[in-house]
Amino acid sequence: MKSRFAPSPTGYLHLGGARTALFAWLWAKKQKGNFVLRIEDTDQERSTQDSINAIIDAMQWLSLDCDEGPYYQSERFDRYKEVVEHLLSIDKAYYCECSQDRLQALRDELISNGEKPKYDGRCADKKLSSGVVRFRNPRTGNVIFDDIVKGKISINNEELDDLIIARSDSTPTYNLTVVVDDHDMEIDYVIRGDDHINNTPKQINLYKALDWSLPKFAHLPMILGSDGSRLSKRHGAVSVMNYRDEGFLPEAFLNYLVRLGWSNGDQEIFSISEMIKLFELSGINKAPASFNIDKLIWLNQEYIKTSSANDIAKYLAWHIDNQSIDTNNGPDLIKVIESLKGRSKTLIEMVDGMKLFYHDFHDFDEQLAAKHFNSNSKIIINLLIEKLDKLSNWSAENIHETVKNICVELDIGFGKVGQPFRLALSGNGKAGSIDIVAELVGKNRTINRLRMALDYINLSS
Ligand code: GLU
Repeated sequence: MKSRFAPSPTGYLHLGGARTALFAWLWAKKQKGNFVLRIEDTDQERSTQDSINAIIDAMQWLSLDCDEGPYYQSERFDRYKEVVEHLLSIDKAYYCECSQDRLQALRDELISNGEKPKYDGRCADKKLSSGVVRFRNPRTGNVIFDDIVKGKISINNEELDDLIIARSDSTPTYNLTVVVDDHDMEIDYVIRGDDHINNTPKQINLYKALDWSLPKFAHLPMILGSDGSRLSKRHGAVSVMNYRDEGFLPEAFLNYLVRLGWSNGDQEIFSISEMIKLFELSGINKAPASFNIDKLIWLNQEYIKTSSANDIAKYLAWHIDNQSIDTNNGPDLIKVIESLKGRSKTLIEMVDGMKLFYHDFHDFDEQLAAKHFNSNSKIIINLLIEKLDKLSNWSAENIHETVKNICVELDIGFGKVGQPFRLALSGNGKAGSIDIVAELVGKNRTINRLRMALDYINLSS
């Protein structure tokens, strides 16, 4: 069994494309079949190498590895030509020399009469030998197929055009190449967005004309933005790699994608192996799915919380590098990740939270300093320096004890010590449990930062 993903490299891989790829990939994995990647780059003006790279990078980031391919349509022009010639030779196709002007006039006339624009077949019986090649679509009868998602679809052939299968420069068009490839590559399941559903009857007629057996079709409902309009850049229909840049884990992203139009009861969290086990094309919703960024963030947070620090480190490496954090200049990265896992919604938040462990800072957040650095906190900070300096075993437990003792000694609550201490350690107040943070920051750095806080208070009073 084989399924395929067949993107046109005319832009980045976006969310909708990634969901199509995931569904096709899951279906192949579930059947222990092959997943084929085919780059549909016949439109040489709009296809770019950058887009090809972006699509392949995104597939790699998501670990949607292909078992076959990537195949490139641009390398298969001879084969398409052969099929076009075959269709001409069996009179299932014909040359057409109608000018653009004539076609436009015909179009305008049909539209003004309230009819569907369609070629009128003027060249169908002329036996020409140059021009564009049109497929001779059957004139009567219906094309009927059972879409796995949409159900039975029936289209009257009268509604279908004699579509162009080769341009006058003999380059083939999409509907021809997709049929030839899905046949030659022995694709059993064509899983794609429902923006292609109007092409399917035309393609089925081509299969029949060529006497080829049909694959099964599953057209995926579109994805809407949270306001109910078609998903656009405004809603997050940006490159998949943007989600990497924004700190999403690929597993969380895939988990989010699988729920866009497919469900298994009310289960929200699926490991990849569970997705493979449970996924069914018949479980795909007929209605459009809605994109909801809050849910994606929620899932990401869940995945960060439950993934091992080692697994997170693999994906964090890109962000660490991107933000030039020198993790040699501080505590064990795994311990830092452990300390931040429970409080990071994204890897961007995590990497921001990491900075205080590896980079020294020279200033304190002014607003927070105005609130937490004052004559009272000066006494507290002095005590912290004195007592922490005496600790021979620098551990979170001992640091915690020290803070507690100061609270008792001064008869104040934990927050009164914790807040200036947290600000002194972080510069911006953004730090988790201060005893753990201080342990990881290390004794020297902690005391230096407390001294810096003292200087700040002295200078501003
Ligand atoms: N190349 C087409 C696209 O990117 C998809 C073709 C197909 O899946 O049949 O929209």
